[in-house]
Amino acid sequence: MTTLHPFLAHRLIGTGTSVFSEMSALAAKHHAINLGQGFPDFPGPPWIKAAAEEAIAGDINQYAIAHGAPVLRQALAAHYSPRLGRDLDPNRDVVVTSGATEAIFASVLGLVNPGDEVVIFEPFYDSYVPSIDFAGGVPRYVPLRQPDADHAEWWYDAAELEAACGPRTKLILVNTPHNPTGKVFTRAELQHIAGLAQRWNTLVLSDEVYEYLTFDDAEHISIATLPGMWERTLTVSSAGKTFSLTGWKIGWVIAPPSLNAATRGTHQFIVFCSATPLQAGIAAALSLADDHGYYDQFRTEYSQRRDVLLAALADAGLPAFAPRGTYFALADIRHLPYIDDVAFCRALTVEAGVTAIPPTAFYSEGHRELGRHLARFAFCKRVETLEEAAHRLHRWASPTAQAAGKC
Ligand code: PMP
Ligand code: GLN
Repeated sequence: MTTLHPFLAHRLIGTGTSVFSEMSALAAKHHAINLGQGFPDFPGPPWIKAAAEEAIAGDINQYAIAHGAPVLRQALAAHYSPRLGRDLDPNRDVVVTSGATEAIFASVLGLVNPGDEVVIFEPFYDSYVPSIDFAGGVPRYVPLRQPDADHAEWWYDAAELEAACGPRTKLILVNTPHNPTGKVFTRAELQHIAGLAQRWNTLVLSDEVYEYLTFDDAEHISIATLPGMWERTLTVSSAGKTFSLTGWKIGWVIAPPSLNAATRGTHQFIVFCSATPLQAGIAAALSLADDHGYYDQFRTEYSQRRDVLLAALADAGLPAFAPRGTYFALADIRHLPYIDDVAFCRALTVEAGVTAIPPTAFYSEGHRELGRHLARFAFCKRVETLEEAAHRLHRWASPTAQAAGKC
């Protein structure tokens, strides 16, 4: 990076290009079905798009108030008050951001001083580490472990988390439901994390962008609802996943003013405000979703998509962990003759015409080994797209294709 781009600031050294951009470009080049980057290939609900169109036609097109258009803050306060079990104040407890990515970046930048430690679970969403680095913070990694004979689900070692926390910890970053493992943190785990936050007087940033994507009996719990945690938690979410509108980039932070002052303070100088007519659209989405029976239908459709993908992977000899939440599944590729996940994902794009994400991008240097035998497949796609992917994977996995030297 330094030789190629001598003018770049040191903070960009080693950041490279996001794995999502890289794999989407590769998918486009090879006309592959892109099960890599997590964006739906179906449209968002027409009644939400109509609300944004009306806002544009009605000239709601100038800057919004920096911390959010009142109509959206009111809708968010009404929506999250029952979910978080408290009477939220739209003026004090809500900040609208440009997606969850900016919510996390702005919050970390507003809270973390150089040298402060931030505990994150691995694998992690790829923007977490640059956000911490740019603030001068120090990430402390706690790996999630695969299901095994003693653990039916992805799990973490309590002692490892306890060892990562200490007097220098400023923030514990939690993501539930978790990308890319599909883990939904249990109440007992969240209580353990909450206990550590209280013991070390640290804050929690809880990334809950997949809050509506839980399957079977998995229950999404916001850590902010646990006793004593409202005062120390910033709850982050966004409209992208829940309303299948990832390009709108409307996100938010729900937190008491003492914490969200950090988000507001940086957000006003990063973007000042997020797109005004799209805020109006998401306000309508939140207000009308229940009337449309939206959330139940959303979950039902995603359960079907998940089943189609899991069956396709199993059929192609790529056994996957059934996710409890999110729209991702991790397949185990250790039995295949590729040197690592990157080689596999590149080869699969070229040979099968299906793209996945290599999860080592979501691990720190020291723990890359934990992701080398995995590949992440997204199922936020039309059933027909997933069926076409199933067909391609089946063909790729067939003995004839193997004999043709696909590996
Ligand atoms: N957090 C997680 C765990 C994600 O998977 C994503 C990606 N979609 C984001 C945050 C970013 O969300 P947004 O697109 O709203 O910025
Ligand atoms: N969150 C999406 C994923 O994990 C992608 C977000 C992005 O492209 N930055 O696939």
